Amino acid sequence: MSSLNCQQLTTKNAWEFLDSIDTVLIDCDGVLWNSNDTIDGAVETIQMLRKMGKQPIFVTNNSTKSRRQYIEKFNRLGFTVSEDEIFGTAYVAGLYLKHKLKFSGKIYLIGGSGLAEELTIQGIPFIGPGYDHVEEGEDVHNWTNIELDPEVRGVLVGFDPLISFRKVCRAASYLTDPSVPYIATNLDGRLPIPNKGRVIPGTGCLVDFVTKAAARQPTVVGKPNELMFQCVKEKFPLINPERTVMVGDRLDTDILLGKNCNLKTLMVLTGISSLEDVQHNQQSTSQSLQKLVPDFYLPAFGDLHKLVKKE
Ligand SMILES: [Mg+2]
Repeated sequence: MSSLNCQQLTTKNAWEFLDSIDTVLIDCDGVLWNSNDTIDGAVETIQMLRKMGKQPIFVTNNSTKSRRQYIEKFNRLGFTVSEDEIFGTAYVAGLYLKHKLKFSGKIYLIGGSGLAEELTIQGIPFIGPGYDHVEEGEDVHNWTNIELDPEVRGVLVGFDPLISFRKVCRAASYLTDPSVPYIATNLDGRLPIPNKGRVIPGTGCLVDFVTKAAARQPTVVGKPNELMFQCVKEKFPLINPERTVMVGDRLDTDILLGKNCNLKTLMVLTGISSLEDVQHNQQSTSQSLQKLVPDFYLPAFGDLHKLVKKE
Protein backbone atom coordinates (compact mmCIF):
# COMPACT_ATOMS: atom_id res chain seq x y z
CA MET A 1 0.00 0.00 0.00
CA SER A 2 1.47 3.39 -0.96
CA SER A 3 1.64 6.08 1.70
CA LEU A 4 -1.60 7.38 3.14
CA ASN A 5 -2.41 11.01 3.92
CA CYS A 6 -3.79 9.69 7.16
CA GLN A 7 -1.53 9.27 10.18
CA GLN A 8 -1.63 6.27 12.46
CA LEU A 9 -1.80 7.32 16.10
CA THR A 10 1.19 5.85 17.92
CA THR A 11 3.03 6.37 21.20
CA LYS A 12 4.93 9.16 19.38
CA ASN A 13 1.98 11.35 18.40
CA ALA A 14 -0.87 10.28 20.75
CA TRP A 15 -0.08 12.94 23.38
CA GLU A 16 0.09 15.71 20.79
CA PHE A 17 -3.25 14.52 19.39
CA LEU A 18 -4.87 14.45 22.83
CA ASP A 19 -3.51 17.92 23.64
CA SER A 20 -5.22 19.25 20.52
CA ILE A 21 -8.76 18.19 21.50
CA ASP A 22 -11.32 18.92 24.22
CA THR A 23 -14.34 17.07 22.83
CA VAL A 24 -14.54 13.57 21.40
CA LEU A 25 -17.59 12.63 19.32
CA ILE A 26 -17.73 8.87 19.28
CA ASP A 27 -19.72 6.56 17.05
CA CYS A 28 -20.91 3.42 18.89
CA ASP A 29 -21.43 0.36 16.62
CA GLY A 30 -18.06 -0.78 15.32
CA VAL A 31 -16.17 1.61 17.64
CA LEU A 32 -17.24 0.84 21.23
CA TRP A 33 -18.94 -2.45 20.53
CA ASN A 34 -19.90 -4.92 17.86
CA SER A 35 -23.40 -6.27 18.49
CA ASN A 36 -23.29 -7.08 22.22
CA ASP A 37 -19.52 -7.41 22.63
CA THR A 38 -17.46 -4.50 23.97
CA ILE A 39 -14.40 -3.78 21.85
CA ASP A 40 -11.24 -4.42 23.85
CA GLY A 41 -9.96 -1.32 25.68
CA ALA A 42 -12.94 0.91 24.78
CA VAL A 43 -14.17 1.23 28.40
CA GLU A 44 -10.66 2.14 29.61
CA THR A 45 -10.20 4.67 26.80
CA ILE A 46 -13.43 6.50 27.74
CA GLN A 47 -12.34 6.49 31.41
CA MET A 48 -8.95 7.89 30.42
CA LEU A 49 -10.53 10.66 28.31
CA ARG A 50 -12.76 11.70 31.23
CA LYS A 51 -9.77 11.73 33.62
CA MET A 52 -7.96 14.02 31.20
CA GLY A 53 -10.95 16.39 31.22
CA LYS A 54 -12.05 15.57 27.68
CA GLN A 55 -15.75 15.51 26.94
CA PRO A 56 -17.00 12.31 25.29
CA ILE A 57 -20.27 12.55 23.32
CA PHE A 58 -21.84 9.54 21.66
CA VAL A 59 -23.31 10.03 18.19
CA THR A 60 -24.90 7.02 16.56
CA ASN A 61 -26.98 6.50 13.43
CA ASN A 62 -28.53 3.42 14.99
CA SER A 63 -32.23 4.26 15.49
CA THR A 64 -33.23 1.12 17.38
CA LYS A 65 -32.81 2.65 20.83
CA SER A 66 -33.97 5.68 22.78
CA ARG A 67 -31.45 7.45 25.03
CA ARG A 68 -32.88 5.54 28.00
CA GLN A 69 -32.41 2.23 26.18
CA TYR A 70 -28.85 3.24 25.24
CA ILE A 71 -28.01 3.90 28.88
CA GLU A 72 -29.02 0.30 29.63
CA LYS A 73 -26.74 -0.98 26.88
CA PHE A 74 -23.80 1.24 27.91
CA ASN A 75 -24.15 0.08 31.52
CA ARG A 76 -24.47 -3.57 30.53
CA LEU A 77 -21.25 -3.35 28.49
CA GLY A 78 -19.31 -1.65 31.30
CA PHE A 79 -19.46 2.05 30.27
CA THR A 80 -20.57 4.89 32.53
CA VAL A 81 -22.44 7.43 30.44
CA SER A 82 -25.14 10.04 31.10
CA GLU A 83 -28.25 10.51 28.98
CA ASP A 84 -27.18 14.06 28.03
CA GLU A 85 -24.12 12.63 26.27
CA ILE A 86 -26.11 10.39 23.89
CA PHE A 87 -27.29 11.52 20.45
CA GLY A 88 -28.94 8.66 18.55
CA THR A 89 -31.01 9.17 15.42
CA ALA A 90 -34.23 8.26 17.26
CA TYR A 91 -33.65 11.25 19.57
CA VAL A 92 -32.40 13.56 16.80
CA ALA A 93 -35.40 12.71 14.56
CA GLY A 94 -37.72 13.74 17.42
CA LEU A 95 -35.78 17.01 17.92
CA TYR A 96 -35.85 17.71 14.18
CA LEU A 97 -39.62 17.21 13.96
CA LYS A 98 -40.39 19.25 17.06
CA HIS A 99 -37.91 22.12 16.84
CA LYS A 100 -36.91 22.48 13.18
CA LEU A 101 -40.14 21.48 11.42
CA LYS A 102 -42.47 22.60 14.26
CA PHE A 103 -44.41 19.50 13.22
CA SER A 104 -48.07 19.16 14.08
CA GLY A 105 -50.21 16.15 13.24
CA LYS A 106 -49.46 12.47 13.41
CA ILE A 107 -46.38 10.61 12.12
CA TYR A 108 -46.56 7.38 10.16
CA LEU A 109 -43.56 5.56 11.63
CA ILE A 110 -41.64 2.68 10.12
CA GLY A 111 -39.49 1.91 13.15
CA GLY A 112 -39.34 0.24 16.51
CA SER A 113 -39.55 0.98 20.23
CA GLY A 114 -36.59 3.41 20.39
CA LEU A 115 -38.14 5.78 17.86
CA ALA A 116 -41.57 5.34 19.43
CA GLU A 117 -40.18 6.31 22.85
CA GLU A 118 -38.35 9.42 21.62
CA LEU A 119 -41.40 10.63 19.64
CA THR A 120 -43.52 10.17 22.75
CA ILE A 121 -41.02 12.20 24.82
CA GLN A 122 -41.29 15.04 22.27
CA GLY A 123 -45.12 14.82 22.43
CA ILE A 124 -45.45 13.76 18.78
CA PRO A 125 -48.29 11.28 18.11
CA PHE A 126 -47.61 8.43 15.71
CA ILE A 127 -48.93 5.18 14.28
CA GLY A 128 -47.14 2.31 12.55
CA PRO A 129 -44.86 0.20 14.81
CA GLY A 130 -45.52 -3.52 15.10
CA TYR A 131 -46.75 -6.12 12.65
CA ASP A 132 -48.58 -5.04 9.51
CA HIS A 133 -47.89 -8.05 7.39
CA VAL A 134 -49.28 -9.54 4.24
CA GLU A 135 -51.18 -12.81 4.27
CA GLU A 136 -50.03 -15.44 1.81
CA GLY A 137 -52.14 -15.30 -1.36
CA GLU A 138 -53.47 -11.79 -0.63
CA ASP A 139 -54.41 -9.95 -3.81
CA VAL A 140 -52.18 -6.87 -4.10
CA HIS A 141 -54.96 -5.07 -6.00
CA ASN A 142 -57.10 -5.08 -2.86
CA TRP A 143 -54.66 -2.49 -1.53
CA THR A 144 -55.68 0.16 -4.04
CA ASN A 145 -57.96 1.35 -1.25
CA ILE A 146 -55.57 0.67 1.62
CA GLU A 147 -56.87 2.47 4.68
CA LEU A 148 -55.00 5.69 5.52
CA ASP A 149 -55.26 7.81 8.66
CA PRO A 150 -56.24 11.37 7.65
CA GLU A 151 -54.38 12.76 10.69
CA VAL A 152 -51.01 11.53 9.41
CA ARG A 153 -48.99 14.56 8.27
CA GLY A 154 -45.47 13.12 8.17
CA VAL A 155 -43.54 9.89 7.45
CA LEU A 156 -40.47 8.80 9.43
CA VAL A 157 -38.42 5.74 8.46
CA GLY A 158 -35.86 4.11 10.76
CA PHE A 159 -34.71 0.58 11.44
CA ASP A 160 -37.66 -1.79 11.52
CA PRO A 161 -37.13 -5.55 11.27
CA LEU A 162 -40.93 -5.84 10.91
CA ILE A 163 -40.84 -3.88 7.62
CA SER A 164 -43.46 -5.24 5.23
CA PHE A 165 -44.82 -4.63 1.77
CA ARG A 166 -47.97 -3.22 3.35
CA LYS A 167 -46.00 -0.74 5.50
CA VAL A 168 -44.22 0.54 2.38
CA CYS A 169 -47.60 0.86 0.60
CA ARG A 170 -48.86 3.01 3.44
CA ALA A 171 -45.74 5.17 3.70
CA ALA A 172 -45.58 5.82 -0.05
CA SER A 173 -49.33 6.55 -0.16
CA TYR A 174 -49.00 9.18 2.59
CA LEU A 175 -46.08 10.67 0.69
CA THR A 176 -48.16 11.29 -2.45
CA ASP A 177 -49.14 14.52 -0.67
CA PRO A 178 -46.12 16.79 -1.28
CA SER A 179 -46.82 18.74 1.92
CA VAL A 180 -46.17 15.58 3.99
CA PRO A 181 -42.48 15.64 5.09
CA TYR A 182 -40.43 12.50 4.50
CA ILE A 183 -37.72 11.92 7.10
CA ALA A 184 -35.24 9.06 7.41
CA THR A 185 -32.95 8.38 10.35
CA ASN A 186 -29.93 7.22 8.29
CA LEU A 187 -28.85 5.50 5.10
CA ASP A 188 -26.40 2.88 6.43
CA GLY A 189 -26.67 -0.15 4.15
CA ARG A 190 -25.49 -2.77 6.63
CA LEU A 191 -25.16 -3.31 10.33
CA PRO A 192 -21.53 -3.80 11.39
CA ILE A 193 -21.20 -7.42 12.42
CA PRO A 194 -17.99 -9.38 12.95
CA ASN A 195 -19.06 -12.57 11.16
CA LYS A 196 -17.55 -12.86 7.69
CA GLY A 197 -20.03 -14.20 5.15
CA ARG A 198 -23.07 -12.84 6.98
CA VAL A 199 -24.97 -9.62 6.24
CA ILE A 200 -27.66 -7.79 8.19
CA PRO A 201 -29.32 -5.10 6.04
CA GLY A 202 -29.34 -1.63 7.60
CA THR A 203 -31.91 1.16 7.59
CA GLY A 204 -30.67 2.43 4.21
CA CYS A 205 -32.20 -0.65 2.55
CA LEU A 206 -35.61 0.12 4.07
CA VAL A 207 -35.34 3.80 3.14
CA ASP A 208 -34.47 2.85 -0.45
CA PHE A 209 -37.62 0.70 -0.61
CA VAL A 210 -39.84 3.62 0.48
CA THR A 211 -37.92 6.20 -1.58
CA LYS A 212 -38.33 4.21 -4.78
CA ALA A 213 -42.05 3.67 -4.18
CA ALA A 214 -42.69 7.26 -3.10
CA ALA A 215 -40.52 8.76 -5.86
CA ARG A 216 -39.30 11.31 -3.31
CA GLN A 217 -36.04 11.86 -1.47
CA PRO A 218 -36.00 11.94 2.35
CA THR A 219 -34.38 14.41 4.70
CA VAL A 220 -31.82 12.23 6.46
CA VAL A 221 -31.19 13.37 10.04
CA GLY A 222 -28.27 11.02 10.80
CA LYS A 223 -24.57 11.31 9.98
CA PRO A 224 -23.21 12.74 7.68
CA ASN A 225 -25.95 15.40 7.98
CA GLU A 226 -24.59 18.32 10.01
CA LEU A 227 -27.87 18.34 11.92
CA MET A 228 -26.42 15.73 14.26
CA PHE A 229 -23.58 18.10 15.26
CA GLN A 230 -25.99 21.07 15.43
CA CYS A 231 -28.06 19.15 18.01
CA VAL A 232 -24.87 18.47 20.00
CA LYS A 233 -23.87 22.16 19.87
CA GLU A 234 -27.32 23.28 20.97
CA LYS A 235 -26.94 21.21 24.13
CA PHE A 236 -23.24 22.04 24.63
CA PRO A 237 -22.78 25.53 23.14
CA LEU A 238 -19.17 25.88 24.32
CA ILE A 239 -17.91 23.12 22.02
CA ASN A 240 -15.13 24.36 19.75
CA PRO A 241 -15.16 22.45 16.41
CA GLU A 242 -11.41 23.08 15.98
CA ARG A 243 -10.76 21.18 19.22
CA THR A 244 -13.22 18.36 18.50
CA VAL A 245 -12.54 14.99 16.92
CA MET A 246 -15.08 12.66 15.31
CA VAL A 247 -14.20 8.99 15.88
CA GLY A 248 -15.88 6.40 13.68
CA ASP A 249 -15.60 3.21 11.67
CA ARG A 250 -17.37 4.46 8.53
CA LEU A 251 -15.93 6.86 5.99
CA ASP A 252 -19.22 7.87 4.35
CA THR A 253 -21.03 8.71 7.61
CA ASP A 254 -18.67 9.32 10.56
CA ILE A 255 -15.65 10.73 8.75
CA LEU A 256 -17.83 12.70 6.32
CA LEU A 257 -19.73 14.27 9.26
CA GLY A 258 -16.38 15.32 10.72
CA LYS A 259 -15.31 16.83 7.38
CA ASN A 260 -18.68 18.56 6.89
CA CYS A 261 -18.39 20.19 10.32
CA ASN A 262 -14.64 21.00 10.12
CA LEU A 263 -13.74 18.61 12.94
CA LYS A 264 -10.64 16.48 13.26
CA THR A 265 -11.32 12.89 12.19
CA LEU A 266 -10.12 9.55 13.54
CA MET A 267 -11.04 6.28 11.87
CA VAL A 268 -10.92 2.93 13.65
CA LEU A 269 -10.64 -0.41 11.89
CA THR A 270 -13.03 -2.46 14.03
CA GLY A 271 -16.13 -1.85 11.92
CA ILE A 272 -17.13 -1.22 8.31
CA SER A 273 -14.39 0.74 6.48
CA SER A 274 -10.81 -0.37 5.91
CA LEU A 275 -7.43 1.20 5.06
CA GLU A 276 -7.96 -0.10 1.51
CA ASP A 277 -11.09 2.08 1.34
CA VAL A 278 -9.04 5.07 2.52
CA GLN A 279 -6.40 4.31 -0.11
CA HIS A 280 -9.09 4.04 -2.78
CA ASN A 281 -10.55 7.43 -1.81
CA GLN A 282 -7.15 9.07 -1.69
CA GLN A 283 -6.35 7.93 -5.23
CA SER A 284 -9.81 8.67 -6.62
CA THR A 285 -10.35 11.37 -9.22
CA SER A 286 -13.67 12.22 -7.57
CA GLN A 287 -13.34 15.25 -5.28
CA SER A 288 -16.11 14.04 -3.01
CA LEU A 289 -14.25 10.75 -2.47
CA GLN A 290 -10.87 12.47 -2.02
CA LYS A 291 -12.44 14.28 0.93
CA LEU A 292 -13.12 10.94 2.64
CA VAL A 293 -9.61 10.48 4.02
CA PRO A 294 -9.47 10.79 7.82
CA ASP A 295 -6.73 12.77 9.57
CA PHE A 296 -5.80 9.82 11.80
CA TYR A 297 -6.48 6.12 12.19
CA LEU A 298 -6.11 3.48 14.88
CA PRO A 299 -6.56 -0.28 14.62
CA ALA A 300 -9.05 0.03 17.52
CA PHE A 301 -10.38 2.91 19.66
CA GLY A 302 -9.41 0.86 22.71
CA ASP A 303 -5.74 1.18 21.67
CA LEU A 304 -5.70 4.87 22.57
CA HIS A 305 -5.37 4.35 26.32
CA LYS A 306 -2.60 1.79 25.77
CA LEU A 307 -0.59 4.27 23.64
CA VAL A 308 -0.72 6.84 26.39
CA LYS A 309 0.05 4.32 29.12
CA LYS A 310 3.26 3.25 27.40
CA GLU A 311 4.69 6.79 27.53
MG1 LIG B 1 -20.30 2.60 13.31
